[in-house]
Amino acid sequence: ATERTSLFIFFGGTGDLAYRKLYPSMFNLYKKGTLREHFGVIGTSREKLTDQQFQENVFKSLGVAKTDKDAEKFVSHFVYEAHDVTDKAHYQVLKKRADELDKTYKLNGNRIFYLSLAPSFFGTVAGFLKTEGLTDTDGFDRVVIEKPFGRDFDSAQQLNDALSKSFDEEQIFRIDHYLGKEMIQNIEAVRFGNTLVESLWNNRYIDNIQVTLSEKLGVEERASYYDNSGALRDMVQNHIMQIVSLLAMEQPVSFTDVDIRAEKVKALRSLRVYNVAEASTNFVRGQYGAGDNQRAYRDEDNVPHDSNNDTFVAGKLLFDNYRWSGTPFYIRTGKMLADKFTRVDVVFKKPLIDIFSFPQNHNAPLEANVLTMYIEPHAGFTLRLNAKTNGQGFQTEPINLDYFVDAKDSKATPEPYERLIHDVMKGDGTNFSSWQEVSYAWRFVDQIRKVWDLQQPQFPNYTPGSMGPAAADELIQRDHRQWVYRL
Ligand code: NAD
Repeated sequence: ATERTSLFIFFGGTGDLAYRKLYPSMFNLYKKGTLREHFGVIGTSREKLTDQQFQENVFKSLGVAKTDKDAEKFVSHFVYEAHDVTDKAHYQVLKKRADELDKTYKLNGNRIFYLSLAPSFFGTVAGFLKTEGLTDTDGFDRVVIEKPFGRDFDSAQQLNDALSKSFDEEQIFRIDHYLGKEMIQNIEAVRFGNTLVESLWNNRYIDNIQVTLSEKLGVEERASYYDNSGALRDMVQNHIMQIVSLLAMEQPVSFTDVDIRAEKVKALRSLRVYNVAEASTNFVRGQYGAGDNQRAYRDEDNVPHDSNNDTFVAGKLLFDNYRWSGTPFYIRTGKMLADKFTRVDVVFKKPLIDIFSFPQNHNAPLEANVLTMYIEPHAGFTLRLNAKTNGQGFQTEPINLDYFVDAKDSKATPEPYERLIHDVMKGDGTNFSSWQEVSYAWRFVDQIRKVWDLQQPQFPNYTPGSMGPAAADELIQRDHRQWVYRL
């Protein structure tokens, strides 16, 4: 791999995300040679730690043997500075250390500021980075922002305005870790790499598209965050909107961040923003009740007993453009569902005439072709076709052509964060959300939220281990369709 050169400053450097995902991902990049001699890391947070204690923590987070020489060399590039992000004076201390590391490792003034902190601090940190001179270098300055990016359009815009005072749009990398997943990136390969697929990819041949992000767990220990967010904000506004825009967009002029983003934005702009009546008909929310050995959401720790938070959402999305008019996208996501998986089901229209199902033949009616993209946990595709059953007579049956990434390859699949950190070093924004994408997604989601805030839901309304409330099935059955994945 080409070696990349940069200083990293991790704000919130002792947090759960940093230890669990970010440092192990950096170590993978180190082992592959993307990071080698010319990188340095400053971890910073409120906790008081020495450089050595921090290095020990980072080492532990890598999950390698105590004698691992690579890991030892890797963590020797890490230093630590206790720091309150609201304290202006401390940025001078950070700057001094940053300049030192720049010299030691010959970093050419390249800097990546990774904000793995509560979003309420993003604006403050970005402001001080600029005013206190940390961005005054000859190299690149890039800022990485964790989710959530606002809680509605207005707060997202405020946040963006604050960031824009210090960084230009192309310096801001908004993480949506779904975009780092191998199979999400495969949506583009499958669509634009195959005449067979792209020539049918429109409302003439596709009946509907279904996107399901299903989680088996409940809120776990993130309840106090989640209760103020809910499934619509936590999953639909970002991950689902990103997946849907990759599925719906036109072919980008070239496979570069600027061109791909332009098409995603265009797709999101043609997404129909619902009025009150449409939002109530086309969206369903849910909250899980009690199940076997499982407390109801309202009885979870740190959740108010009268919480109306959504732990499930299903909806129908309509694009008002020539390609998609009349072909709905159905989406759903929730906690405490039957299984943990993410998949996209593309349901094609049935043949206009079924010549096999005449009365003497007793053949079951032809089924629709379905292209399923399995995003996780197993990555792969299946294409369901109709074929003749083996043997005498003439009966048809659906068969599956399939491809799955084998176990060896899936072990070698880069973690989303590994890919994303690498992209930031390359300055490639393809797999990050642009401000325009974020803002159009909020514009859509805010309408749903507004309607929900006016109505009292009948919660709880689904049992753990199901696929959500009955209303989510009714939503699609009303259109004479069914979820491809159902229990
Ligand atoms: P965390 O609570 O585990 O860590 C927060 C860090 O911020 C700690 O290091 C803490 O010391 C530091 N901090 C808090 N206040 C500070 C202050 N005033 N000055 C300096 N440092 C301060 O949080 P986390 O789970 O690591 O999440 C970090 C970010 O990543 C958040 O934006 C979160 O929404 C996002 N995120 C986390 C996950 C996850 O799996 N943990 C997933 C997606 C997004």
